[in-house]
Amino acid sequence: MSKFRFMALQEVASHKPLEVTAPSEDISNYYGCHVFNRKNMQRYLSEQTIEAIDKAINEGSSISLEEASLIANGMKSWAKDNGVTHYTHWFQPLTDGTAEKHDSFIDFSKEGQVIERFSGKVLVQQEPDASSFPSGGLRNTFEARGYTAWDISSPAFIVDDTLCIPTIFISYTGEALDYKTPLLKSLAAVDRAATEVCGYFDKNITKVTAQLGWEQEYFLVDSALYKARPDLCLTGRTLMGHSSAKEQQLDDHYFGSIPSRVTAFMKDLEIEGFKLGIPIKTRHNEVAPNQFELAPIYEECNLANDHNQLIMDLMKRLAIKHNFNVLFHEKPFQSVNGSGKHNNWSLTTNTGINLFAPGKNPRGNMLFLTFIINAMVMVYKNQDLIRASIMTATNNRRLGANEAPPAILSVFLGRNLTNMLDKLEKEVSNSKMTPEEKTALKLGIGRIPEILLDNTDRNRTSPFAFTGNRFEFRAAGSSANCAAAMIVINAAMAHQLGEFKRSVDAMIEQGTNKDEAIFKELKRLIKSSKSICFEGDGYSKQWEKEAEKRHLTNINSVPEALLKYEDTAAREVLIGEKIFNSAELSSRIDVEMEKYVKKIQIEARVLGDLTINHIIPAAVSYQNVLLDNVVKMQSVFSEEQFEQLTCKRKELIVEIQQRIDRLKVLVEEMTEARRQSNALTSIREKAKSYSRNVDPYLDTIREHIDTLEMNIDNEIWPLPKYRELLFTK
Ligand code: ADP
Ligand code: MG
Repeated sequence: MSKFRFMALQEVASHKPLEVTAPSEDISNYYGCHVFNRKNMQRYLSEQTIEAIDKAINEGSSISLEEASLIANGMKSWAKDNGVTHYTHWFQPLTDGTAEKHDSFIDFSKEGQVIERFSGKVLVQQEPDASSFPSGGLRNTFEARGYTAWDISSPAFIVDDTLCIPTIFISYTGEALDYKTPLLKSLAAVDRAATEVCGYFDKNITKVTAQLGWEQEYFLVDSALYKARPDLCLTGRTLMGHSSAKEQQLDDHYFGSIPSRVTAFMKDLEIEGFKLGIPIKTRHNEVAPNQFELAPIYEECNLANDHNQLIMDLMKRLAIKHNFNVLFHEKPFQSVNGSGKHNNWSLTTNTGINLFAPGKNPRGNMLFLTFIINAMVMVYKNQDLIRASIMTATNNRRLGANEAPPAILSVFLGRNLTNMLDKLEKEVSNSKMTPEEKTALKLGIGRIPEILLDNTDRNRTSPFAFTGNRFEFRAAGSSANCAAAMIVINAAMAHQLGEFKRSVDAMIEQGTNKDEAIFKELKRLIKSSKSICFEGDGYSKQWEKEAEKRHLTNINSVPEALLKYEDTAAREVLIGEKIFNSAELSSRIDVEMEKYVKKIQIEARVLGDLTINHIIPAAVSYQNVLLDNVVKMQSVFSEEQFEQLTCKRKELIVEIQQRIDRLKVLVEEMTEARRQSNALTSIREKAKSYSRNVDPYLDTIREHIDTLEMNIDNEIWPLPKYRELLFTK
């Protein structure tokens, strides 16, 4: 066996479950101990300072430098009491993952002594040399200054010996260079627009908060095997590998018992997650072998997103400790299910109402219907923008595979709610409604909670499914920053609610009674956008045809999908709601295009190298064994016997030769396609060219390699196989 693969397999055998000891106290005792939360603030800050923080969070008031200094001092004392020596502004640039630059607390005092200092100024703002972060041309390297500014709404936390302060990251001229800045803007926009619409129903509603509950899917691979697969190390996915005879056909992994090595990892993760105040709730096996899921209790969207970023980082680090590598790639293995990150999204009010849950009375139900219908319309009008927010080189490998939503957006509402909308559409008359009609309508609406109670149909194939009290957006990729989708969904919802309010107000101004105006607008909205609703199998071929008939859009190319960020409808939402300015939006597309190009470029390079350095030499070795054998046969058998006995073997020798030749040609062609694409100066044209001319080679080359894997002596094959990668426990 190839030495490399053999050693890796041997090493796997030595990997035993680690002993993980949880703190002996109740979870509630140590939960959040690494977070500068209320409990810790109360110990280290005065009541007055805490009040200032609350006011800044709830009312958006600013923190004075004096207050910031007091907070910084308290934070430092708390951190030092927890063994912390360094601090960092923790931010989310437009790469995969987070960024941090650690500085120690030490400083010189006036007298030249070393002291520990953490000032309010440093807490509030920093200027990391950020020239190497993607900016899509917003910031030239010679004017590299970008700065990070404290996000007071997300609490500081401790990782190892470092105090981490969540921050936004913007250019010196104020343009956003990260995910958090536009996310915060979109959350403010949806708060504003939703609160105004709520005003029709309940004047006590003064704030609406977007909630997010993410479900994180991932794979674990033994680290010894991972290291023996250059493609996994460098691209996060297997660029080759014949499917294993047994994979997920028996459905024996999903919700099955969790292997003990994995349980140890999960336990460790939960303990560390709890310390960071991440409310991890659920863990289970997913459909594919070695695939798992983790989900917390939902939280305010910005905090939930920080927690997702934080946990992904924690998972990577803890997995290594347990001799695993965690794969967040959306499609690490071709023949089994890929990984998504479901975004469960809802809107809640300061009065404790979930706007996507039916109310207690007809009025509450009208509020519910208003928000459900506007959400449906929001998806209908923004299919292209929503798709753009989740399209990446990696997620594109998963979308439209047998187990993942296609690149078509649709909304699942469930049978009962759909019937309710049908009724609403029919019963609201265009002319002035009679008192009888109004009563009938109110009666129907009053029954919503009952009908939803037995709403047990759970469609798992819909990209945007209503699940009783929230929408679950399932097309987001497992490696993505949730903010990418959440920015768009919250901004688009804000925009739709704004339009709704303007239409209703116009009718009221014309003398229509408020309720009637609302009903009429809802009816019009249902009629205009119900083609987005689909209750059937979203993974089926028929749906693709049906969606086309309904004029729903379906875009499979990443660059084409990304360009939709800038079409008229998208600009109305993103620029109209002041989430981005024109330059920011355009640069964001360029950043995404660049990421796409680089990912495909790396994959193409790695595949080229592996083909030439690993696969072809292995094929030649085995071909030599066969040739040797044939030559020896000739010396032993009569000519007639020889021909008969070796004819299949010779065929195999020829086939191997043909595939080797073909592989060489394909790799050369792919390299040439890359060269030509690289010569293009516009990043958008480059991305299109990579998608059209380079990407297709990845699959074609792989096909030859996977067939060779089946034909070549197992002992010679250089890379760990799917059966090894997916089934080592
Ligand atoms: P399933 O796999 O059946 O979709 P899970 O329990 O794995 O369900 O995940 C559901 C996710 O939805 C959890 O993160 C949960 O906290 C979240 N969630 C539940 N209710 C809401 C809500 N009202 N708003 C947002 N997220 C919610
Ligand atoms: Mg789910």
